[in-house]
Amino acid sequence: MLILSILFLNRTLRLIIILLKLTMANTSKIDNNLFKVPLSTGFRRFFYFVKPEESSFDSPENVPSYINEALPFFFVLIITENIINWYKDKKMMRLNDAMSSISAGIISQLPLLFGRSIEVVVFCYVHKHYKIAELNWNSPITWWIGFLGVDLGYYCLHRAGHEINLFWAAHQVHHSSQDYNLSTALRQSIFQRYCSWMFYAPLALFLPPQVYMVHVQFNLLYQYWIHTELIDTLGPLEWIMNTPSHHRVHHGRNPYCIDKNYAGTLIIWDRLFGTFQAEEREVSYGLVHPLQTWNPFNVQLCHFKWIWLRFNQEKTILDKLSTIFKGPGWHKGTPRLGKHEELPEVEYPVKLYDNHLPYWYNIYVFAHFLILIVAYTELVQFKTVN
Ligand SMILES: [Zn+2]
Ligand SMILES: [Zn+2]
Repeated sequence: MLILSILFLNRTLRLIIILLKLTMANTSKIDNNLFKVPLSTGFRRFFYFVKPEESSFDSPENVPSYINEALPFFFVLIITENIINWYKDKKMMRLNDAMSSISAGIISQLPLLFGRSIEVVVFCYVHKHYKIAELNWNSPITWWIGFLGVDLGYYCLHRAGHEINLFWAAHQVHHSSQDYNLSTALRQSIFQRYCSWMFYAPLALFLPPQVYMVHVQFNLLYQYWIHTELIDTLGPLEWIMNTPSHHRVHHGRNPYCIDKNYAGTLIIWDRLFGTFQAEEREVSYGLVHPLQTWNPFNVQLCHFKWIWLRFNQEKTILDKLSTIFKGPGWHKGTPRLGKHEELPEVEYPVKLYDNHLPYWYNIYVFAHFLILIVAYTELVQFKTVN
C-alpha cells in the first residue's frame, strides 16, 4: 500500500508539474484569453440580459461563440456555488459526479472542433433554398421573434426528447446525475444535436441564420444557472420564466415530476401546453432507474444499447417501431407514454451511486482531469463559431 501510494504520489507530482509547465508556457495567452469579455458582460449573458443591438450580426460568420466565451464563467460559478454550499453547510458537489458531468459536456462539444453544428448547417441550407420570407436581421422585432421562436423550438425538441425513446437515448445523458448543481448543467449528450435540428428548421423559413445562432446559444446559457439548489423561488418571475425551482422538478424522478417542465427560458410554454408542474415536495434527482456507472461511454450510449435489446425482443414490426418511437416507459398494452401508475416511488433515504477511492487516487484522477480541462480550453481557442 505504501509503495502504491508513493508511486501515485510520484505520478501525481509529475502530472502537476506538466500541468504547471503547460499553463506557464501559455501564461500570456491564457491571461489574455481566459476572460474574453468583461466580467459583467459574461455574467449577464447567463440571464439573457443582452440588447438586440449588441447581439445582431450581418452574417453567420460574425456570430461569436458565446458558449466558448462562457467557459471560464462556468467554472467560476461552479466554484462559487461550492463555496456558498460549504459556508451554508449544505451538500457539496461530489467530485466523481461532477467529473462525469463535465466529461459528458466536453464529449458533447467535440464534434464542433471539426466542423459546424448540424443544427446550423441544416438551418442555413433550409434558409437558403426554401425561405418564404426574409426578416431584417437588424430589426429588434426580428430579434424578439428569434427569441420566442428558438424558445418554442427548444420546448418542442425537449418534449420530444422525453416522449420519443430514440431521442430520449440522447437526452437521458443530461438526466443521469443523481445530484443537482451547476456541473449537472454541463452533462450533455453528443447525439442530441442529431435530433434537435428538425425542431429548429421551420424557423429557417423566415429567420436569418445569424439570429437563430445567437438565440440558440443564449437559450443554452440561460439554462446553466437554473441547475442549482441554492435558489429557492424567484417570486413573480416563477410565472413567466424557467427557474431553478421549475427545473428541479424537471430533473426529478418522483412520479409527480415525470414529463413536466420542458421549458428553456420561458415557462409559459409548459403552462400553455399542459406540462407545467410546480415544485411541491422534496425532489429526488436522476433517472427512474438510476445509472450505476461513471464511464463516459456508458453514460452516452447505455440507452441506445437498451433500445437495441428491446427492438430485438419485440416480435412484430409495429412493436419494434413502438420501442423506438413511443415513450421510454411504453411496453405492450400501455398508452404511448406508458402508465403513470407503473412509475416506482422513490425510496428514502435515497441511495446514491458512489464509490470511494483512496485520497491519493482522487488527487491523481483530479490532476488528469485538470490537464484535460486545460487541453480542451486550448483546443477551443481555434474554434470561434458554433
Ligand atoms: Zn429533459
Ligand atoms: Zn437540466
